[in-house]
Amino acid sequence: MGPANPPSVPATPLPVDLDAIEAIRADVERHALRTPLSRSNALSELIDGDVDLKLETVQPTGSFKIRGAAAKLGSLAPDELERGVITASTGNHGRAVAHVARAMGVEATICLSDNVPAGKVADLERLGCTLDIGGPSQDAAFERAIAASDQDEGPTLVHAFLDPVVVAGQGTCGLEIAEQRPDCGLVLVPLSGGGLISGIAVAVRAMLPDARIIGVSMEHGAAMYESVRAGQPVQLDEAETLADSLQGGVGSENDVTFPIVQQLVDDIVLVSEDELADAMGFALREHRLVVEGAGAVGIAAIRAGRVRPSPATTTVVVCSGANAELATIARLASGEM
Ligand SMILES: *Cc1c(COP(=O)(O)O)cnc(C)c1O
Repeated sequence: MGPANPPSVPATPLPVDLDAIEAIRADVERHALRTPLSRSNALSELIDGDVDLKLETVQPTGSFKIRGAAAKLGSLAPDELERGVITASTGNHGRAVAHVARAMGVEATICLSDNVPAGKVADLERLGCTLDIGGPSQDAAFERAIAASDQDEGPTLVHAFLDPVVVAGQGTCGLEIAEQRPDCGLVLVPLSGGGLISGIAVAVRAMLPDARIIGVSMEHGAAMYESVRAGQPVQLDEAETLADSLQGGVGSENDVTFPIVQQLVDDIVLVSEDELADAMGFALREHRLVVEGAGAVGIAAIRAGRVRPSPATTTVVVCSGANAELATIARLASGEM
């Protein structure tokens, strides 16, 4: 990893491999789409090369997280499904778990803090899950989810990234990229806890050994970037960002995505809030595409020159989600941002 200057990392066996991703593919495809690649003429011209957007924005629930949720619920035994699933997430992961659970007739409980805005609560309620609201922070809500899942006969915890089955689910996005663009030389992937990039990196590295995989995070609160630099997971304070789906830590003990990112990801680059706003506006104007901040980091990295793919390279930019606030989209569309 060039700019991240990490300590050198000894190779250790990784918790997810290509076989695991192929094995859960059928479970994922029961709920998630094989998403299209859509060429971006504007970005291709900008770098005098080939840039395709991988549109996870069109998934049911509006993000790739439905892949991991479908993989996890699909892996559970009948008695586990009977006891239900639990998680703590206000955003795309909670939506995905609630959606897949409802489709399978499984009870899902989502733990939220008292601070979650009424709009998000209403969104989750509409997905038919049970809400457990209380406490001062999402960390506390997560503790409740863990405590409930630790009980005898308790529901199964569905973690957004610290679970090899969830990572394998996200990896199906990587299988598709390698099948759709066997000439792909570079994949740009939004990066927070690292579930998405880990799954993609395992699949793409196995199928297209020469392709580079670069993670993109926002400048403030880039926990995986700092962790890789430090050689161990580090905790950061959260900051306001347009890429709200990238907020949150990597876990103090991370033996799932941290080692995969350390060993398989070639570089991590950061983008500023201005670059994110520019990228979201660009996607809307140029492609009539609604991408949330987290989903637009790869576009931002290219537009801002944070990565400079060589003209001979075919680049795939993963646009991970569409769930931007309507007010944000309105401001982008009116040119106020
Ligand atoms: C969760 C999420 C991410 C980050 O995924 P990780 O697996 O945590 O790295 C990126 N984009 C969107 C839209 C998300 O919902």
